Amino acid sequence: MLSVTCKIRLSASGVHLFDRVSGTNVLLDEVAVPVEQFSRAPRYLSVALTNACELRCSYCYAPKYAASLDRERVLQWAVELDAAGCLGLGFGGGEPTTYRQFPQLCADIAQATSLPVTFTTHGHRLTPALIDSLRGSVHFVRLSVDGVGATYERLRGRPFTALVQAAGLLHSLAPFGINAVINADTVSELDRLAEFAGAAGASELLLLPEQPTKTTPGISDSDAERLVQWVTTVTTEVRLAISRSGFEAALPTAEAIPEESPLDAHMHVDAAGVLRPNAYASMGVPVGQSIIEAVEALREAG
Ligand code: SF4
Repeated sequence: MLSVTCKIRLSASGVHLFDRVSGTNVLLDEVAVPVEQFSRAPRYLSVALTNACELRCSYCYAPKYAASLDRERVLQWAVELDAAGCLGLGFGGGEPTTYRQFPQLCADIAQATSLPVTFTTHGHRLTPALIDSLRGSVHFVRLSVDGVGATYERLRGRPFTALVQAAGLLHSLAPFGINAVINADTVSELDRLAEFAGAAGASELLLLPEQPTKTTPGISDSDAERLVQWVTTVTTEVRLAISRSGFEAALPTAEAIPEESPLDAHMHVDAAGVLRPNAYASMGVPVGQSIIEAVEALREAG
């Protein structure tokens, strides 16, 4: 007999069942949930554990001041979010593998909650020992790969062969996806990125059209058109996904949770402990004793 333990999230979209081990989602959208029973947490929370990172990517949006979150505080937020219907926690930064006691934090959350633990990494600090210490505590990983071969080496300043090794280590840890910032440097490498993702055993290629920051203008209109053209004509075994970036309407994307509001779908905590609608947002609410109180304050402010 098949036995599955799943989380339940209630929202205006219906009853959402989720299993962190298999990654299976089931939405019972024919069930009308009374407003007072809606889950209070956002469906997904990204957390910048630290601003620290030894790489210097020109399109990096992570703030450059030193900051990192307290481990006990993050664990307490995870427990609170889990009880309030959150379905996922994703660590980033900066580079989360620079965070002190990162494996311990992942293990504590995996043990204390039913949340899937995920993180995004540049991969260059992964070692067999670190992978072993994360085993059983991590449910999905995102590996940042901007271009392949010489393009990758120019943009990230690290050998591409080291990245290939990192992908091999991740493959032994958990399902993983490739994150690729798409801009003038990488838009012509989409075919090679998809080939790399397939050969490395990745289950997804997430396209991140470059966002404007203080130092970069973001993807140009002509490169955006090339990206749309590629997505609509490519045939690849690897699942394609795209960030919420304004391109959804121009692409044949599936809306996972119909009519879900952005603040129900996702929020972000930066390394200074400020809750924001997303990592690029300027407005935010400092998280105090309770992260759910901050979630509600952010919804009211938004
Ligand atoms: S690897 Fe990520 S966090 Fe580090 S500099 Fe590059 S974009 Fe920023």
